Amino acid sequence: MKKRIYMASPTMHGEEQEYVQQAFDTNWIAPLGPNVNNFEKEMEEYTGISYCTALSAGTAALHLAMKNLNIQEGDVVICPSLTFSATANPVVYENGKLVFVDSEPDTWNMSPAALRRALEKYPTAKAVVLAHLYGTPAKIYEIMEICNEYDVPLIEDAAESLGATYDQKQTGNFGLMSAFSFNGNKIITTSSGGMLASANEDYIKHATFLATQAREPVRHYEHKEIGYNYRMSNITAGIGRGQLIHLNEHIQRKKEIYFTYKKAFEEICEIRMNPYEEKIAEPNFWLSCITIDKNCGVKPIDIIESLEKENIESRPIWKPLHLQPVFKDCEFFSHYDDGRKSISEDIFDRGLCLPSDIKNTEADMQLIIEIIRKVFE
Ligand SMILES: *Cc1c(COP(=O)(O)O)cnc(C)c1O
Repeated sequence: MKKRIYMASPTMHGEEQEYVQQAFDTNWIAPLGPNVNNFEKEMEEYTGISYCTALSAGTAALHLAMKNLNIQEGDVVICPSLTFSATANPVVYENGKLVFVDSEPDTWNMSPAALRRALEKYPTAKAVVLAHLYGTPAKIYEIMEICNEYDVPLIEDAAESLGATYDQKQTGNFGLMSAFSFNGNKIITTSSGGMLASANEDYIKHATFLATQAREPVRHYEHKEIGYNYRMSNITAGIGRGQLIHLNEHIQRKKEIYFTYKKAFEEICEIRMNPYEEKIAEPNFWLSCITIDKNCGVKPIDIIESLEKENIESRPIWKPLHLQPVFKDCEFFSHYDDGRKSISEDIFDRGLCLPSDIKNTEADMQLIIEIIRKVFE
């Protein structure tokens, strides 16, 4: 069997193991410990966000953001439809009412036009959750402006966008709180893990408290709130510290991959790369994605299957959440108000994610491009 070419798999460098070894040498296997404290500090320095708390998953970070906002049964929370289900699930954990909004075509992220219509109908929504899909910043300023108008808090799901910038500021700096993920396929990984970040120390303190079983600071295990076991371990944080050193290298290599595809596909007029706002945004290029022209006869599945035959991994775009059986009763606001097919559905129908693993060689890239080229012949 040929070696498998991945979309995005972990890339370790060596420092990860040194930090883990330190944890073993000092028996800081648990609880928490210096790697956790330092990983938080190093994330604060890297992102420029004042306070971070290290958690067991990005999903846990989003959940604690909902807890901090005190989302109650029936409270409306507005989410993008085109994202991973983990963006929306924490709303359901708190029995909130999910309202989905469409994407816009320039970044594939939350459509300001659709958001405005959602807020016109639900002006007392308790939160807007925004995602920076595939590492591409959303139209943050437009969305912030609308959120300010309606005085609704904005949460950034930056799980896929660590290191991406908007107007020279790291994603995660724009919301009241933001969530990062270090899951196995993300731009850096701790095998699994996440981080909640905020400029507001109280939110991070309360999240840390809830993440450690809501133990009151007294000796005898006193509880006034329901807590969770959501903290990151000192072993896991060691991997994170070693990875963070190499984040900028990962981004550089992801960017090279994106532009290698972009250049190659200039000759295939049916293909477009996932777009971004070049004037103000610098993505982290986590995944390179394409859409295929509607009328050319080639479907994403044709490319996915051709690549799979050569043991190369590729995947469909996230299936829009408003089309998911589990969310079928949720309301959806389209980018268009004239009954045209929604942007998220269109991207899902015509798009796919290409292998974007930073260990892929130049030869791997040329093989992938050649296979795709052949599909269009
Ligand atoms: C990965 C991801 C999450 C969840 O992060 P986990 O660490 O896997 O819990 C949330 N939102 C988006 C958009 C993601 O891609």
